[in-house]
Amino acid sequence: MIKRAILALLIPFAGPALAEGFLIHPPIDCDLTGPDCYIQQYMDLDPTTGVTDYQCQSLSYEGHKGTDFALPTRKHMTEGVAVIASAPGTITSLRDGMPDTGFSDETAASVKGRECGNGVVIRHADGWETQYCHLRQGSVTITKGQHVQTGTPLGLVGQSGRAAFPHVHLSVRKDGVKIDPFDPDGTLTCATPADSTLWADPPAYRPGGLLDIGFATAIPDYADIKAGTASQTNISTIAPALVLYGFTFGTRANDILRLTLQGPETTILTQDLTFERPQAQSFRAIGKKRRHAPWPKGAYTGTAALIRSGAVIDTRSTQITLR
Ligand SMILES: [Zn+2]
Repeated sequence: MIKRAILALLIPFAGPALAEGFLIHPPIDCDLTGPDCYIQQYMDLDPTTGVTDYQCQSLSYEGHKGTDFALPTRKHMTEGVAVIASAPGTITSLRDGMPDTGFSDETAASVKGRECGNGVVIRHADGWETQYCHLRQGSVTITKGQHVQTGTPLGLVGQSGRAAFPHVHLSVRKDGVKIDPFDPDGTLTCATPADSTLWADPPAYRPGGLLDIGFATAIPDYADIKAGTASQTNISTIAPALVLYGFTFGTRANDILRLTLQGPETTILTQDLTFERPQAQSFRAIGKKRRHAPWPKGAYTGTAALIRSGAVIDTRSTQITLR
């Protein structure tokens, strides 16, 4: 009996009791079931060079120690989505003023040592701490020492610091140790699913999916797709080509993107495009050149379906009218 009591003291994170005192909510003022935000990357639970998220899948990257709540495009970021406190506490540090340039070879030097970008740290009870990274320049609205409640706005989702896409990176720490809120007691293995959570209401797991879909008159630049500006809504019946693109996240090797371009009278084009390797984000497009006659006037529907092992895991559609 004594031995067991000592063991329990030595392993403070063992047992599901951990989560009972401290619970968190998503750090973003947006419905995570989509389409305006999603989780791009979870914490990497594989201590070696492999990558494993809490579902024993691959939505993470080597050494990632937080959870990334992302916006599909920069346009969503410009429109403004609030970063909110995950739990009540006191602001212990913050930074603002870094530009939302994202991470590239050109910006690598300027974000070195400031990878979090514009960020906020909140101290909670019992040694818990949450940190929010990559906030939008000039958006941090709280002050050091301020007490906040769950849901208090801290700033806006941005792309400052080491961020490849607009998102808020949430770190959770207990006595300085980084904790996966989806596996706080750290007992998860691929054979035994997580039996504890820090979430008051755990966000549903989306194992990859569609971020955006749109029509264009030529294959868009990837930069414009990520910016959210590639989609054309005003297309003429004498446009030289009709293109449909789908923007995806979390795709794996052998996933299929089925793109269908439906005209007012017939299906103009449908194609299955296979992903050859895993990709955190990417896009695929189909298109048809106009021959002689104008495109028929009327409603056009574009549909994208992401297919994994024969099952559709996400779909998105969009419509335009050619006049
Ligand atoms: Zn992150």
